[in-house]
Amino acid sequence: MALRIDIVTLFVEMFDGFLSAGVVGRANQRHLIEVHRTNIRDFSTNKYGSVDDAPFGGGVGMVLQCGPVYAAVEHVQGLASPRGHLVLLSPQGQPLTQALAVELAAMPRLVLLAGHYEGFDERIRPLVDREVSIGDFVLSGGEVAAMVVIDAVTRLLPGAIGKEESVEEESFSDGLLEYPQYTRPREFRGLSVPEILLNGDHEKIRLWRAEQAKERTRQRRPDLWAAYVKRHNDKDPRDAGETP
Ligand code: SAM
Repeated sequence: MALRIDIVTLFVEMFDGFLSAGVVGRANQRHLIEVHRTNIRDFSTNKYGSVDDAPFGGGVGMVLQCGPVYAAVEHVQGLASPRGHLVLLSPQGQPLTQALAVELAAMPRLVLLAGHYEGFDERIRPLVDREVSIGDFVLSGGEVAAMVVIDAVTRLLPGAIGKEESVEEESFSDGLLEYPQYTRPREFRGLSVPEILLNGDHEKIRLWRAEQAKERTRQRRPDLWAAYVKRHNDKDPRDAGETP
């Protein structure tokens, strides 16, 4: 059964290209996902169609009002069963990680709520099951963040990408970054492909890749490396000659 994803946004049109191309587009065509878009503006409570107002207490920018957001979300939640797990895209949320993407991919239904302007009236929080941030920076709207979540989740669904092993070997799947990859030609501007990848010895290649993944993670992401070492019995697995 397709994973139903509802997007609640002010800019439904921003998703047009995204939903029709690449892995997400293919998953959409193959009915692995079923995406619906709802415009918060359709739930405006005034004749001007506005959904935002100035903040109480003063300050710059506009704040999305509770009324239209509650109405839009309640409408969307009533469109299908089960009720969707409501994810608010927010720079104040839980950081998106591969582990969280795996968790979201296992949900029967997702509702993604994208903000704009200065964000939401605080009183929309009771609607929300989870707040997710795609990084420590501020976007002008939650649409791009919703696309990031949809992409990360969709590629984990069975049948979404060519070979399921490629998901299993990717960066973060075992808490490590991926090993370096090469393709033809063997030589490019004086740069050659490591000899070990050309000799057809699959066990040697596996060990080389495992070592490269560890070294790369150790150098580039000491935080991930420390967590990996901790998980492997609180010792540097390379010292013990282990493979991941
Ligand atoms: N004033 C808010 C604050 O400081 O927390 C930021 C509002 S931001 C300009 C507008 C909208 O973009 C947010 O409501 C949220 O939906 C989205 N957004 C911005 N940065 C994001 C991030 N890092 N991750 C996820 N969503 C983000």
